[in-house]
Amino acid sequence: MNESFSKLKFAYAFAILIIMAIVGAVLSLIVEDYIILISVLGILYILLLIILLNAFHKYIKPIQVASKTMGELLKGNYRARVHHPFNGSIGDLSRQINELARNLSELSINEQMQADQLKTVIDNTESGLVLLDEKGYIHLVNRKFLSMFGGQQRDYVGYLYYDVMRQTAIHRTVQETFLYEKNVKKSITLDKDTRHMYIEVVGAPIFTERKLLKGAVLAFYDITDFKNVEVMRKDFVANVSHELKTPITSITGFAETLLDEGLSNPEINRQFTEIIYNESNRLQVLINDLLTLSKLEQEGFTLSYSDIHLITIVNEVLPAFKQKIAEKDISVDTSISDSIHFIADQEKLKQILINLLANAINYTPEQGKIKIQAVESEDDVHIMISDTGIGIPQDVTPRIFERFFRVDKARSRDTGGTGLGLAIVKHISELHGGHVTVESELNKGSTFTVVLPKNLDKVK
Ligand code: ADP
Repeated sequence: MNESFSKLKFAYAFAILIIMAIVGAVLSLIVEDYIILISVLGILYILLLIILLNAFHKYIKPIQVASKTMGELLKGNYRARVHHPFNGSIGDLSRQINELARNLSELSINEQMQADQLKTVIDNTESGLVLLDEKGYIHLVNRKFLSMFGGQQRDYVGYLYYDVMRQTAIHRTVQETFLYEKNVKKSITLDKDTRHMYIEVVGAPIFTERKLLKGAVLAFYDITDFKNVEVMRKDFVANVSHELKTPITSITGFAETLLDEGLSNPEINRQFTEIIYNESNRLQVLINDLLTLSKLEQEGFTLSYSDIHLITIVNEVLPAFKQKIAEKDISVDTSISDSIHFIADQEKLKQILINLLANAINYTPEQGKIKIQAVESEDDVHIMISDTGIGIPQDVTPRIFERFFRVDKARSRDTGGTGLGLAIVKHISELHGGHVTVESELNKGSTFTVVLPKNLDKVK
């Protein structure tokens, strides 16, 4: 409305100017005065100029400003705005351009935020990630991938995967992912700081909306812990089978011989039956130890805490070894203050003492010495069992608490050992929130120290 009104004003102004020019020209011709004619034309020219300038400011300049702003927006500068306060259609256009600019600016901020969030997720994910295009060029590698394979972003991004990744298993994963256009899984082993790292690599194809292959994502999972557990499990099964096989073979063999020929000979009969009895006992001890370990490891296993008077518990355990101690003429010295009290699982604590005392007696020659001591601090109780036995070689002391580890297999078997005693001691100590250590010198003796927290808050 406003705009058509001003257009009308321009039209009127033009018409008046033309009429004034004609009237002026006619008048000056009538009076034959060219000075008046020139003056009239001059004034008319100035007025025309003023009108044109006005028109420029009203119609041409706003279009120029709008066009410049649109140019900036097209270039991606979403902060560009039309700042001139125009009226009419031009004003509407300016406002719409500004609105568009604001929307674009919001969209771009959201997009940036989403990109940042995605980058954070990709970088902080626990698996290595690599993004490839359909030609095999790397577009992205995340932080985890770099920590697995070493190097920096710039060593990978922009390169062909087979130029910067040496493992043939990765090459095959990419090739098969592109070839079969479905997920492909392979494993690789990396040697890192003198240890093996097992990695599972999964290639997943990426498709366009029209189902055309666009590239692939490679995901790298560190499965070292799983592998180690698997190896441990296999070793354990192999060890258990082996430990069970030895006495069973012996029992079967002697029983067969007895059935075939021994029954008529009372001497052989007695001797073989004794062997069968001893081997059955060994089997029973082994099965008991295995059951103890399995119970300790069960999910949800809890200790039964009660107040422990240590000297009482030690005195309850010692009589079981009386005969063996006497047979080997070993002296046992107990030095535990009557005042030592703490909270622990009584049966499990007895198991610790039995296993450590049995070892001390088994691995100490005749006339040796065993000492049972305990000291307490504000937080912990230290129970020490020392012997003057054969000792343990320095290089194997760290392995002494592993299941089925024995320094001398034959000797351990002769003494009826299962190779599980110390593993059980370690497990029980840790369940109490404590630990066990050993100090030993070959042919001089060993000291096993069990440290248990007195404060129940420390128990995990
Ligand atoms: P085992 O049933 O064979 O005794 P353990 O787990 O109790 O199994 O002990 C593991 C190994 O540690 C034993 O085979 C033995 O070689 C060594 N060992 C344990 N205690 C002593 C000790 N007091 N003196 C010397 N060696 C020991």
